Amino acid sequence: MNDQWRFIASSMPQWLEDCRPYAHNGSPAAYIPELAKAPKEALGITLLAADGSMINGGDSSFMFTMQSISKVFTLLLALIDNGEEAVFAKVGMEPTGDDFNSMLKLELVEPGIPFNPLINAGAIAVTSLIRGSSPAETTERILAFMRLMAGDDSIGYNETVSSSEAATAYRNRSLAYFLKDNNVLEAHTDVEQVLSVYFNHCAIEVNCRHLARMGLILANGGFDPLANRQLLPRRYVQIAKTFMLTCGMYNASGEFAIKAGIPAKSGVAGGILAVVPGQYGIGVVGPALDQRGNSIAGVRLLETMSVECDWSIF
Ligand code: GLN
Repeated sequence: MNDQWRFIASSMPQWLEDCRPYAHNGSPAAYIPELAKAPKEALGITLLAADGSMINGGDSSFMFTMQSISKVFTLLLALIDNGEEAVFAKVGMEPTGDDFNSMLKLELVEPGIPFNPLINAGAIAVTSLIRGSSPAETTERILAFMRLMAGDDSIGYNETVSSSEAATAYRNRSLAYFLKDNNVLEAHTDVEQVLSVYFNHCAIEVNCRHLARMGLILANGGFDPLANRQLLPRRYVQIAKTFMLTCGMYNASGEFAIKAGIPAKSGVAGGILAVVPGQYGIGVVGPALDQRGNSIAGVRLLETMSVECDWSIF
């Protein structure tokens, strides 16, 4: 292993210790009641390199739900199912600068088309494009895709978290019905069925190692170096990583691009999937969130590592 890898491995305990206290300034998401129960102090990380070398730190085995991180993969699956033109007829390519569940800009681009696939409105539109003859079949296809990407067939979704979100999803329901009114969700689409698939894929349960494996495939343009095969079209991976950079950390994406400068996607359960292009896949978890819905300690850890290792792509 090279010098940088040894440096990361030896520095990790100190970085974790330095970043963990930031969790005190945040708290786990409470608007999905089941997520509020997460341990605030948890902080874990996995880094995975193309030769299979792995660095695990802290609570890297802690299981959590992907939440918005799943949106990167539902976008990829929708692109595979429908192609670029059909997907971008339903969703735009621009960051919003607003909260991830905001309604503010829904009327601003073409009639009601959400700005990008990583905000809730855009992700719900994308979920409606994924093939499947029933919500159960669509959920199963998404699960199969996640299992392939994570290299683990035991991955499933947490039904308690999915139901907890469904029971309180007044805002997502509003967004989805608004999309239907604007024909972004098409006339034949059953809004509640699309939402049930959306809640299920947000509730897919992983640990840092799974995210690192998924990230490694993105880092290598869709090629899985561990299975030695191309899993995804390079072009679609390029699109996904660009969205991660411009929109992946919600309305803190600009700041994260300046401070860390690598593609990343966060979720409200405290997970972050990060990619060091051509090098590593990284999974991070820390359930205490900042105002924008990003893991406080997790962001701090990634920013620290990126500066120390000079990872910014710019
Ligand atoms: N399931 C969550 C929601 O729709 C995902 C949001 C997130 O992780 N930002 O609100």
